[in-house]
Amino acid sequence: ELVVENIKKSFHGTTVLEDIDFTVADGEFFTLLGPSGCGKSTTLSCVAGLETPDSGTIRVGDQVFFDGTPRHTVPPEGRNLGLVFQSYALWPHMTIADNLALPLKLRKVPKAEQRRLIDDALTKVDMVHLRDRYPHQLSGGQQQRVALARGIVYSPGVLLLDEPLSNLDAKMRNQARLWLKGLQREVGITTVYVTHDQVEAMSLSDRIAVFMHGRLQQVGTPTEIYETPATPEVAGFIGRCN
Ligand code: ATP
Ligand code: MG
Repeated sequence: ELVVENIKKSFHGTTVLEDIDFTVADGEFFTLLGPSGCGKSTTLSCVAGLETPDSGTIRVGDQVFFDGTPRHTVPPEGRNLGLVFQSYALWPHMTIADNLALPLKLRKVPKAEQRRLIDDALTKVDMVHLRDRYPHQLSGGQQQRVALARGIVYSPGVLLLDEPLSNLDAKMRNQARLWLKGLQREVGITTVYVTHDQVEAMSLSDRIAVFMHGRLQQVGTPTEIYETPATPEVAGFIGRCN
């Protein structure tokens, strides 16, 4: 269970997050949805420990990552989270298998165990046959699957995905959505997914948090959000005009 309570964050005096409050249950696929610049990535960065909130609390189970005081912050590497961010590209000079080995080496996983975990993760995204290729020898969609495998290779408690399908064309995105959903069902991993794409959010999520201008407008199931949008802005954004 991931609990985010009353997070506030400003950059250089400009508030970008205000009272962000949500709980993601174990095994849940939870999506942060909203237009560009509304604060989705900043929220994810706060959970990951890449940014420090000004106030609020963040915890997973009973492990407190942040308690409102910057001095008591768990560093990113202590949080056991899987990160698949757009900006976290694969290393071009390393094979696929070596790309996946890196986070395991950092965690001092024994060599024999590394091989098993890498092949397990690559099998889940149907990429094990390409383990010895280099990233430039893969399509964009295949690279994103590898990035996803790298995010789950050390069995993180929570998987954080920031627009992981954004570089794909419409057809590939559809396929990728299907395997992402299948993967989540199979692995059962608690997932926080960031997107500005309403269709993607609706089709993938157990629940959705709708962001606008750094504030949460509504948290609910796709059906709830579609049928009873809390504000005209939410209705407008998800494509329903009341
Ligand atoms: P997008 O869909 O375009 O990725 P987003 O919802 O992820 O948007 P954020 O990246 O969280 O939006 O940004 C929220 C606001 O905070 C934006 O106005 C952005 O310019 C600002 N911001 C984000 N990171 C920083 C930073 N490190 N320094 C200053 N401003 C920042
Ligand atoms: Mg973003």
